[in-house]
Amino acid sequence: MYNPTHTQQDYGNDPLAVRHTDHYQAEYIQSFVEKWDQLIDWDGRAQSEGDFFVRVLREHGARKVLDVATGTGFHSVRLLKEGFEVTSADGNPNMLAKAFANARSHGKLLRTVQADWRWLNQDVHDYYDAAICLGNSFTHLFDERDRRKALAEFYATLRHDGILIIDQRNYDALLDHQVAPSHDFYYCGDNVRATPEHVDDSLARFRYEFPGENVFHLNMYPLRKDYLRRLLHEVGFQRVTTYGDFKETYREDQPDFFIHVAEKR
Ligand code: SAM
Repeated sequence: MYNPTHTQQDYGNDPLAVRHTDHYQAEYIQSFVEKWDQLIDWDGRAQSEGDFFVRVLREHGARKVLDVATGTGFHSVRLLKEGFEVTSADGNPNMLAKAFANARSHGKLLRTVQADWRWLNQDVHDYYDAAICLGNSFTHLFDERDRRKALAEFYATLRHDGILIIDQRNYDALLDHQVAPSHDFYYCGDNVRATPEHVDDSLARFRYEFPGENVFHLNMYPLRKDYLRRLLHEVGFQRVTTYGDFKETYREDQPDFFIHVAEKR
């Protein structure tokens, strides 16, 4: 059963059988959340992203932003520092608590909402110029119904000309065996190893190894790029522009990440 204070993740006897949307709550236990910032390395990440998201948001005239996958707060804090009005949502209370503390240490106060994407508008009662769902978060949804429901909820919280910025790991490269499992993955801190331990059509299981024999896992759904682009169109977004690692031109097998900018109008 889910206990957020557990120090060990629990995948039961058959970790490869754990393929369900609600499991994110059991994965982001306190001890993993504490390590997360070591994993993503805020400074390194800020450097590789540059001002990509700030630029896209400004180009679309966005001012008021909903971060639906706040995690430990990296993008919420960045955008607050750039003068955006930000609301920080996440389904996991450990993540939100950590994000709040991180923001405090950067001299910022987060406005947080605990909300599962599938029922986002139950808890978020405002309209936004933009929603962001970053850091390969959408991959936590294992059922197509959940993906459609979540995207419809994101769509509904946007103003008539709003945009959704959503990213994903380049799973196509993994599924099609275009990158070696030893590949060095984007936004990992120097002393952390992230390796895909198992990949099939409906599961990518990653192993995260921290110094001191701390090992955690994430079971994720390997989203294909064109599949997510299709879903975005099908829920009503009119235009979807896809960037590879923050650039508009990319070679299919090269980027670690794809970033989709979906426009409502
Ligand atoms: N955006 C952050 C970053 O880039 O560092 C966090 C990324 S972390 C991989 C994924 C986040 O999505 C976690 O904080 C998790 O709690 C949240 N999440 C996963 N599934 C969710 C759901 N169904 N509803 C709300 N939040 C969810």
